[in-house]
Amino acid sequence: SSWFDQARFIPPDAIFALTAKYVADSFPQKVNLGQGTYRDANGQPWVLPSVNKAREQLMTNGLNHEYLPILGLADFRNATAKLVLGPELYSQRQSQVATCQSLSGTGSLHLAGLLLRACHGQPKVYIPSPTWSNHHQVFGSLGFPCESFKYYDPETRDLDVESYYSMLDNAEPNSIIIIHACAHNPTGCDPSKEQWKEIARRMKERRLFPLFDSAYLGFNSGNLDEDAYPIRLFIGEMGMEAGVCVSFAKNMGLYGERVGCFLLATHTEQAATNTQSMLEMLQRSEVSNPPGFGAKIASQVLRSEELKRMWYTDMITMSDRIRSMRKALYDHLLALETPGSWDHLIRQSGMFGFLGLSAEVVVQLRGMSESLDIKVPVRKDENANPSTAEQYHVYMADNSRVSIAGLNEGNVEYVARSIAEVLK
Ligand code: PMP
Repeated sequence: SSWFDQARFIPPDAIFALTAKYVADSFPQKVNLGQGTYRDANGQPWVLPSVNKAREQLMTNGLNHEYLPILGLADFRNATAKLVLGPELYSQRQSQVATCQSLSGTGSLHLAGLLLRACHGQPKVYIPSPTWSNHHQVFGSLGFPCESFKYYDPETRDLDVESYYSMLDNAEPNSIIIIHACAHNPTGCDPSKEQWKEIARRMKERRLFPLFDSAYLGFNSGNLDEDAYPIRLFIGEMGMEAGVCVSFAKNMGLYGERVGCFLLATHTEQAATNTQSMLEMLQRSEVSNPPGFGAKIASQVLRSEELKRMWYTDMITMSDRIRSMRKALYDHLLALETPGSWDHLIRQSGMFGFLGLSAEVVVQLRGMSESLDIKVPVRKDENANPSTAEQYHVYMADNSRVSIAGLNEGNVEYVARSIAEVLK
């Protein structure tokens, strides 16, 4: 017997498991559309030129490895608040905003959850369906009752805004609503500006708390100010209190450096001071203090006019390439007379495309005979690679979400052809 006989087996995270299967596949033309990480035109990770330059400057100026303060790098926190709110709103409201550096977007959501729990107990957390696979775990593990609401209509392959409104009209007052600020993951469908106004109005009226998950600012349209529209609408024009969980993983390509920030826009200086002091205490007990290197890079980019301009260009480079690959996949699917309609692909935006394929088709595209939804560990099968003798080698999430950034001129036709053949 073991002290841990009560331990349950938790299946591996589906997307990380998918990457492991992809790595194990020896087929040279294999394509990984699973994990949402940007790839350049050659399928390689891309260090942004602005980030490269900031790194060089840091090295030249002398970099040490001392601890950061518990709340993180103050220059970074302030520059992030100014970036997200825009200079005008920032100058009006800065004293009412609490900030705390976090372990990327995930850590920011977790800190937000800790603070909300400490201030409000465990109200309901409403989460769009579908959503990023980690939302339920982050808030569920903190004890919040999580409820899904219908965000997407598989029939129209578009946002189901009426279901969204009806959730808001029926939600319990003082509940928390998780909002993807832009580039909704996985559907790529965001509300229009008019719909955002209606969402904000209903949330304000019903006293619901907006918690923005902002993992793709600038990555969606290529223009960060455009992508920050709903955040500035809620906090600025609508005068609402809101939390914003910012990640620099995607828009600065700083994935593994874990650079993020939690911002809380409140109504009073006192609330900002108090919540920031609580964030400091919560951070101390979790990680003591956040990592320095990535935050120093991001701060260098955000605080230099020259580097910031370069970064805005880098975001255009990434979002343009993604948009052109979205179009290329669409064009190839049509040219191959692939059964079904594909207009939704070019209507969506952001890093992800939601193809709308059945799980069986997705599994066939991987050249496997079963889904990755692993229920029990079967150790003896770990080294078997069922895909080597199979026909297709295109890896995507079970729900047919594809990371468009994984496509390039060299593989997009192969991907379209594989989809077309499986569907015919
Ligand atoms: N939210 C969403 C919607 C995401 O897609 C991601 C990354 N896949 C994150 C948060 C968090 O990412 P990270 O912790 O790497 O910043």
